[in-house]
Amino acid sequence: MRDVIVAGNWKMHSTPADAGDLALTIAARTRVAGVVRVICPPYVCLAAVRDALAESDPDVAIGAQNVHHELQGAYTGEVSAPMLAGLATWVIVGHSERRRDAGETDALIGRKLGRAIDAGLRPILCVGERLDEREAGVQVAVVRRQLAGALAEVDAGRLAEARLVIAYEPVWAIGTGRNASGRDAAAMSGAIREALTLPGQDLDPELIPILYGGSVTSANIAEFLAEPSIDGALVGGASLKADEMAGIVARAGLTATARGAAA
Ligand code: PEP
Repeated sequence: MRDVIVAGNWKMHSTPADAGDLALTIAARTRVAGVVRVICPPYVCLAAVRDALAESDPDVAIGAQNVHHELQGAYTGEVSAPMLAGLATWVIVGHSERRRDAGETDALIGRKLGRAIDAGLRPILCVGERLDEREAGVQVAVVRRQLAGALAEVDAGRLAEARLVIAYEPVWAIGTGRNASGRDAAAMSGAIREALTLPGQDLDPELIPILYGGSVTSANIAEFLAEPSIDGALVGGASLKADEMAGIVARAGLTATARGAAA
């Protein structure tokens, strides 16, 4: 059975002074059996979130929002995977905001993925098409290319061991209030699993959780989790609101319970 996961990407919000309290509030409102909860604050807030959750909610995982593709060196302002030891156990790679703002290519994202896995971090690899690509009907080809580019240099067995998670995040749905339909998201998760079906490889696509991301809220999460191929959500804006996270995780709990009963 695949994990049911709700990951919150706080993006460039919160400070070391307030992140701990926010994490504690969210954690307290989202104690739901069967749901893997992940909070991804800015780098500078990782320690505050870790310290705040250490006693009350140690089962809330902490993730970084990015990681550098080298281990160390003259990379001003960057953070490498080994530097995250003791701060984070998960990491987001390939978020579309980094593809857009930092010019991250699929090959570079693949190198980050490799570094994350080497450091024992559980990666969430983000993929998704732009609006013009969806309008041109090439969304599946785009996502296939992103997957192939990012995964080309990473051994399939290591991806399986690292318990890779994929987040399908159509760029046009991120932060816009315009979410994909559950049906479109499910169609893409089917295409993703098909693309990950590599003959003779140690990676079983049926074991890889696929999350939907893009303007997820407590009001629309049910549409995605009604799809058996979708295993949770990567939540941006709504992940900063305890009420929203409570609703999203509560709905994810229903899915986890139903899957457990069916297993
Ligand atoms: C994200 O940051 O990954 C995201 C999906 O953002 P939002 O939920 O705000 O669209």
